[in-house]
Formats: sequence, structure tokens, C-alpha cells
Amino acid sequence: MASTPTISTKVQSKDLNGLSLIAAHSHISGLGLDENLRPKESADGMVGQLKARKAAGVILKMIQAGKIAGRAVLIAGPPSTGKTAIAMGLSQSLGSEVPFTAIAGSEVFSLELSKTESLIQAFRKSIGIKIKEETEIIEGEVVEIQIDRSITGGHKQGKLTIKTTDMETIYELGNKMIEGLTKEKVLAGDVISIDKASGKITKLGKSFTRARDYDAMGPETKFVQCPEGELQKRKEVVHTVSLHEIDVINSRQQGFLALFSGDTGEIRSEVRDQINTKVAEWKEEGKADIVPGVLFIDEVHMLDIECFSFINRALEDDFAPIVIMATNRGISKTRGTNYKSPHGLPVDLLDRSIIIHTSSYSADEIRTILSIRASEEEVELTGDALALLTKIGQETSLRYAANLIAVSQQIALKRRSSSVELPDIKRAYMLFLDSDRSVQYLEEYPNQFID
Ligand code: ATP
Repeated sequence: MASTPTISTKVQSKDLNGLSLIAAHSHISGLGLDENLRPKESADGMVGQLKARKAAGVILKMIQAGKIAGRAVLIAGPPSTGKTAIAMGLSQSLGSEVPFTAIAGSEVFSLELSKTESLIQAFRKSIGIKIKEETEIIEGEVVEIQIDRSITGGHKQGKLTIKTTDMETIYELGNKMIEGLTKEKVLAGDVISIDKASGKITKLGKSFTRARDYDAMGPETKFVQCPEGELQKRKEVVHTVSLHEIDVINSRQQGFLALFSGDTGEIRSEVRDQINTKVAEWKEEGKADIVPGVLFIDEVHMLDIECFSFINRALEDDFAPIVIMATNRGISKTRGTNYKSPHGLPVDLLDRSIIIHTSSYSADEIRTILSIRASEEEVELTGDALALLTKIGQETSLRYAANLIAVSQQIALKRRSSSVELPDIKRAYMLFLDSDRSVQYLEEYPNQFID
């Protein structure tokens, strides 16, 4: 078999791409389950929707046990019934070790990347590779030195700003550093420099005062003096990167900088094949574990038949994450075809999916969610105002009512009131239409619009 080239896995930060859902779901910090995975009525910012949350809890356990790779879950239900909120809650409960990628169905259609390339990237962002490395690190106190490039009496001198920190922290400065350390065999008492931009380590010997040493360094260079006396110890270091990150940093055209710009372009399939082989080897040798993560596709009905057929196949791959899809569509046309199917998904994909339903909220649940949102947005609502907002939420949608919170606050501020009262909600309701009233307006004045 042809030998595979060295594969680099060193990245400096996680590329968390996806929807900007932070604001709308910022009040959610988990699924609100107790230790037995039973949903609490209101916890972690989540309210009601008990059945769906319980089902999500079971999925959470399966993901944590590493048992559910290559499965598809569909969360289906009417608009603003918390489908995205549940996915976000699940992501929060998984913690940072398990990769979670969120995309909207419409994101795969772009001029730069083909649909399948976008999907492959999203799939591979959702697979974590936990790499174990044995490395020598130095334990004890480290002196961190910043050089002020002043010239005194013809000699360049370093002003020492001394911070003590341990080696773990220094390790955090860049994964590349450890590689540098082991290669260079830095010894106690040595002075090394770390270029923060590239992560490059240079060994400067026992002294950092030689002018030419720091002349050659950029202003971003850090100097670290390794502790005197302490011995080096072997230590296992574990770091997790996504398959996509490994793809990008090993793709000749792109290099790791593309991770920061997000402009990765198409990645050649040979690169991916080599990486798959290498990762499989590492797994065999016990050097790496595969951590199947979650790919969340919101508004999945926006995908077309080619994307669905790709997903069907990709779910069978060795490196498949769990795919969670959300849709608010009933029986509707699958894009790119002339036939209708439940939720706009082809039946073969539906057949593979486990389906979680969300249902409409009661008045009490709407009230609790709206008051959580108000405190999240730091808006004080009077009892009357909250009651009216709840009624609006019941008759229009939870999302529309939640959007009125910020608008009513502006109206209240205009009359110099720190709390939002009933008339503020009324004014906001009159100023901004919900979708039903907007449709009504269109029907009343059809001639004023272009067809
Ligand atoms: P759509 O089908 O329109 O995309 P959705 O079902 O994904 O809607 P979300 O976006 O999750 O709905 O919900 C709308 C808003 O209400 C969000 O701000 C969300 O965080 C909040 N929300 C919905 N359900 C709950 C819940 N059970 N507990 C707390 N907040 C919720």
C-alpha cells in the first residue's frame, strides 16, 4: 500500500461556523432534564415541550455513549415551537468536547461551493478526532518575559515583565508549541521564543540577552524561560480537532489560515481519502479516538433531492455524525421533484429518521417563555404588559410576541419609563404587523404592490 504523507492536526482555535442563533436562544443553557433524564417543567431556560425534550434527552445519552453515529433525527412541528431551541439545548448539554455544527438548509446553495462540497464540509466539521500524544513537558514555574526594545548605552536591553505561569498555560498558547518543544529538546533553563502569529518556536540557548536574538523577532514574539532545575516529565496530551480542520490544514491550496477566514474552497477528494486512511490508522494504533458529533440542519425542507440523496449515502459512511434536522413543513413538495411527501423529505430519508414532534404551547408556557426572554433582554414588564404579550403570543406566534419585547422597551424609554407597561405593548402591536395582519393588508390593497 502506498504510504500516506504526514498529516498535521495542529490548529490554533476552533472554527465554529454556523447560524447566528445566539441572540434568539441565548436564554437556553441545556435541555432542562434531571439526573434521570426527566424534563423539569422549566429549567435551563427551557419551558414545557416535555415529550420532545425527553426524547432529546435519550438522544443525548446515546450520543454521549458514542452509540448513535450515522443516524438521522427529524424534529418536526409548527413554527416557533422550540425545534431550534431543543437542538441548541442539546448542543449545550453535550459540552465542548463533542462537535456541534449548525447550518440552515438554504446555506448549502452558493456560487463558491457545490451543494455536496458544502454538505461534506458540514459533515466533517461534526466529527471530532481526539488525538493522544505523549510528549515531554516541563513542570514547575515558568518565567514569561516580554522584551521592551529599548537601547541603553549602545546595548539593546530587555526590560523584564515577569509573570509566572505553569506549563499547561504555556501549552495553551498554541498547540504547535509542544511540537516545537519535543523537536528542539528544550532543557530546563533554556530560553525559547514563541512567535504568536505562526506558533514557531525557536531555541535561543541559555541567554536571551543577545541583541541579535531579539532583533530577528517580530513584536509579537514571546520569550519564555524554562524553569531551572526541574526535570522534564512525560505526559499524555489530548487535543480534539474536527476532520474538517484536518482537511483544511492539509490542503495545499488553503493551509491552516483558511480556517480563520472560513474561505476554504473545495477540498480535493484525494486529500480527504488520505486523511481518512491516516485517521483509521491512528485509531487502530490507539493514538486517536473518533468522536461523532452532531450536525444540525435547520429548515431542512430547503434542501433538494440531490442533497437528500447525498445525506442518505453519507449517513452510511464510517465517519458519520448524528444528523438532526428540523422542519415546520407538513405534506409538501420535495425540492427538485414534482412529488409531495411528509415534511418535504423523500420517504427513504424519512424511513431512516427517528421523528420527534413539537406541539403548540399553552398560555402558561408562553407566559413563562416570554418572561424568561424579557429578563434575558433586561426588560422589566408589568403584570398587565406580560398578560397582553401572552395573549398576542397565543393569537399570533411566540416569536412575534418575543420580538415585541425589545420594541416596546424602546417605546417605554421614549416616555422615560424604565418598565414596559400595557400601552407600550399596545403601541408596539399597532406599529409592527404580525404575518396575518400583513397578509390582510396585502389583500386590501393589492393594486399598490408589484405582482
Ligand atoms: P421555526 O419552525 O419557525 O424555525 P422553531 O420551532 O425552530 O421555529 P424556535 O426558533 O426554537 O422555534 O423558537 C422561537 C423562540 O422561542 C426562540 O427564541 C426560542 O429560544 C424560544 N423558545 C421556543 N420554545 C421554547 C421553550 N420550550 N423554552 C424556552 N424557549 C423557547
